[in-house]
Amino acid sequence: MKTQSRRQFIKKSTLTAAAFSLLANSNKAGQYQQAVVLSTWNFGLKANEEAWRILSQKGAALDAVEAGVKLVEADPNERSVGYGGRPDRDGYVTLDACIMDHQQNIGSVAFLQHIKHPISVARAVMEKTPHVMLVGEGALQFALSKGFKKENLLTPESEKEWKEWLKTSQYKPIVNIENHDTIGMIALDSQGNLSGACTTSGMAFKMHGRVGDSPIIGAGLYVDNEIGAATATGNGEEVIRIAGCHLVVELMRQGRTPKEACKEAVERVFKKQQQRLSDIQVGFIALNKQGQYGAFCLQKGFSYAVYNDSGNNLISSDYRVGK
Ligand code: ASP
Repeated sequence: MKTQSRRQFIKKSTLTAAAFSLLANSNKAGQYQQAVVLSTWNFGLKANEEAWRILSQKGAALDAVEAGVKLVEADPNERSVGYGGRPDRDGYVTLDACIMDHQQNIGSVAFLQHIKHPISVARAVMEKTPHVMLVGEGALQFALSKGFKKENLLTPESEKEWKEWLKTSQYKPIVNIENHDTIGMIALDSQGNLSGACTTSGMAFKMHGRVGDSPIIGAGLYVDNEIGAATATGNGEEVIRIAGCHLVVELMRQGRTPKEACKEAVERVFKKQQQRLSDIQVGFIALNKQGQYGAFCLQKGFSYAVYNDSGNNLISSDYRVGK
């Protein structure tokens, strides 16, 4: 009898706890229920579709951002990300990616070859190792041990472009022309949680071994579930130099709107790089905990895609330089 009433008590208090947490969640959901996802460049539109499928079914932002960017990684026609990405100057496709969730879990891979979905390897680093970053051969071995398939990522089209490039071997990044475009995606889910993912083949014809901002937490991506999330595209060296996405999130913490925060980060690049401006593009997109979003870039020509209850839209970012 005594045992039974104890059981009843436990059952009752578990139920009360569950009801309480449900209430807390519904309060939270009331506050943040409008899910939103944004991602860089035109290919963000199709990536958002995939992410929205998950968000609109009350799925987690983490799952949404991974699924969204995977779509672009797998597309051989997108020549700056994943499969079909342009190779480095020695003809190797080397990939960088990172992922961050609402609990500050992070995972990253850099200089990874032969794996079509570096973002999923980054997630596996986050979830299945005590580390946050694996690079090169070690990252590949880890991926293979987790069942990822080894593939040739150099498509005939990318190989052709590389051979053409070899004729002059001139390394000259062209602003906004897709020799360096990353898909960065940040999302807020119906539980009010933020996550982000960022993946790229980096600058086309880069030096073998070069790593950009995209796999570096704080540079190419940053998420703080109390404040907001940001991701970057453009010349990774410049984004790393200002610890770009961490800066954007910290500026939002100080009260800037997402757009103001992105603008201030771009302003830092602008001030320091005035002599080289024509060679550089840097763009940030940001989302805060309330679901407000914005972007800013250095040069005219950067666009980003936003999917929320009003649909999926491509928006031209405001910029610092250009008419
Ligand atoms: N940020 C990437 C890198 O530097 C490329 C890009 O987004 O354009 O590797």
